[in-house]
Amino acid sequence: MNKRDMSKFKKLLTEQRDDLMGNARRALSGDIHVDPDDFPDEMDSASSEVNLQFTGRLREREQGLLSKIEAALEKIEDGSFGECRVCGETIGVKRLKARPVAEMCIECKSDQEQIERRRG
Ligand SMILES: [Zn+2]
Repeated sequence: MNKRDMSKFKKLLTEQRDDLMGNARRALSGDIHVDPDDFPDEMDSASSEVNLQFTGRLREREQGLLSKIEAALEKIEDGSFGECRVCGETIGVKRLKARPVAEMCIECKSDQEQIERRRG
């Protein structure tokens, strides 16, 4: 991958990371909308607890993505960004544009998905 693409992805990933961090901060300060219709009435009294659980789940999911972004940024630094972690082939700019945190080329990814489907 050329340097220009590399720096484009670095910018993209840094922005995504900052977004996630911003979301996490907003969630922590309680400034996030939880629809009361999502919860039965008897949970009203415990709504603050529900909120806390919701925030916890949100953070868990974001934490996963965040660590993938961090890993991708590290790979940009050491120059291995865009290489499939299974076969070492180039993942391809097109695929990376759709999913900058991708760690596998499309062939290895579909191989893996087939194995997972067979496992059930
Ligand atoms: Zn591969």
